[in-house]
Amino acid sequence: MNATAQPEIDRDACDLCGECLAACPTEALSIVAGRLEIDLEQCGYCGDCEDVCPKGAIRLPYQIVVVTEDSAD
Ligand code: SF4
Ligand code: SF4
Repeated sequence: MNATAQPEIDRDACDLCGECLAACPTEALSIVAGRLEIDLEQCGYCGDCEDVCPKGAIRLPYQIVVVTEDSAD
């Protein structure tokens, strides 16, 4: 199955700190010629990059929300 969505990058906000590259489990991110790039074939759309970015510069255009039961105890 091919991913048809990709994380969106705000290149004005991104300071190329590299934290998302380190967090990405599939090595889908790279910095090429001073720009953050995503390899869509590698991206599993996990959202880890969004979670770690200190600038809020990369985010998923939509979220997969997992609802868990809020059980007592
Ligand atoms: S973590 Fe955020 S600011 Fe750092 S390189 Fe990735 S997108 Fe850019
Ligand atoms: S969504 Fe996941 S797999 Fe895709 S670039 Fe971000 S960290 Fe990597």
